[in-house]
Amino acid sequence: MKQRYHRFGILTCLLLFLLTGNIVAQTNEENQQTYTKLMKQKNYGDAIRLMDKVLKDKESKTAENYYKRAAAYAAIDTDHQHYTFSEMLTDLDSIAKRYPDFVSYELDSATTLLGHRLPVVTLGNRSARHHIMVQATMHAREYMATQLTMALLEHYAQMCYQDICEYKGQRISNLLQQVCFVIIPMVNPDGVEIAQNGSNGQLTDEVKQWVRQTEDNGTSHTKIKANANGVDINRNFGNGFNNPFTSSRKTHRSFNFYSGLLPYSEPESQLMLRVSQRYDYDLFLNYHTSGNIIYYGCQNAKKYVNKLAHDYAKLIHCHTNYPLYGPDSAPAGGTWADDVEIIYQCPSVTVELGTTNPVPISEFPTIFEKHKNVWADLAIEVLDNP
Ligand SMILES: [Zn+2]
Repeated sequence: MKQRYHRFGILTCLLLFLLTGNIVAQTNEENQQTYTKLMKQKNYGDAIRLMDKVLKDKESKTAENYYKRAAAYAAIDTDHQHYTFSEMLTDLDSIAKRYPDFVSYELDSATTLLGHRLPVVTLGNRSARHHIMVQATMHAREYMATQLTMALLEHYAQMCYQDICEYKGQRISNLLQQVCFVIIPMVNPDGVEIAQNGSNGQLTDEVKQWVRQTEDNGTSHTKIKANANGVDINRNFGNGFNNPFTSSRKTHRSFNFYSGLLPYSEPESQLMLRVSQRYDYDLFLNYHTSGNIIYYGCQNAKKYVNKLAHDYAKLIHCHTNYPLYGPDSAPAGGTWADDVEIIYQCPSVTVELGTTNPVPISEFPTIFEKHKNVWADLAIEVLDNP
């Protein structure tokens, strides 16, 4: 009889253990489901209160646990290939509402040919002494660069929110008080629409016709770099505009390398110019794809500017192991780097992500791992360069 009670006791304990474990697991999962549902309903207040509870409970008091939990509550979906402009806008809205102390954004007044208004994002203290301008996806097919930039934005906002996250002994929140990142996460949304959806995209009839013609001439829409006007934004800037020595230059509307009729003729390049005039930046950081390489400096820039660019590039190399290509790798050709290095005498570094264009989403986790500490390290470096 005693033995039977004993067995009963063990079975009850086992059952209770399984049930309790299950309840805990289900509760976390349910929390996440509720959270996703609230965010989709744009019920940000309740969603943020729920996330706040989960991320600030006892379990999250170490940085490692915090990262695991925060990942489950991330807004950015990095599992699918086509990260769209409208998805990015929804994510931005959600991130800015979750982390209002660290992230804000505004839509620029200019509109692209397809009617998009571009967001300009601020991460950190706007009144900081130092600023870094980040831009991504100037070229249509390179939209993976937007996904990385957005994921980094959220990662840094999360680290500020849970004020235990440090890099090289410095609190991330403290670093971003002193160095502010001004970010244009998708410079060329019209081009992205074409690269992702071709002539089935939300385009004007005239642009659809141009895309069809381009495909008839043998270039897939997935390979387009230009905007919807057929202008390569990264050839539309002033310094070296229409340089006849750049062999790749085109003389008419094209999927790549056409500079346009005049420097800054495009709303996208005008926006870049306006944002670049806001602050006396310490660094211009540009995300393109592909090649897993880093360009720095520009051929006609002052030596000290190229030296600074080299120092920042080397720092990024330490995280990524991407090889470096210096100022002599290309003549001035109306690129963004040519402009900012010559006009502002400010260093520029261009990172080319991934192995091919468009970069397969399967490469995203490796890319993110390599780049996740780069902004913190750059901020530290900027503070070291008075
Ligand atoms: Zn590019």
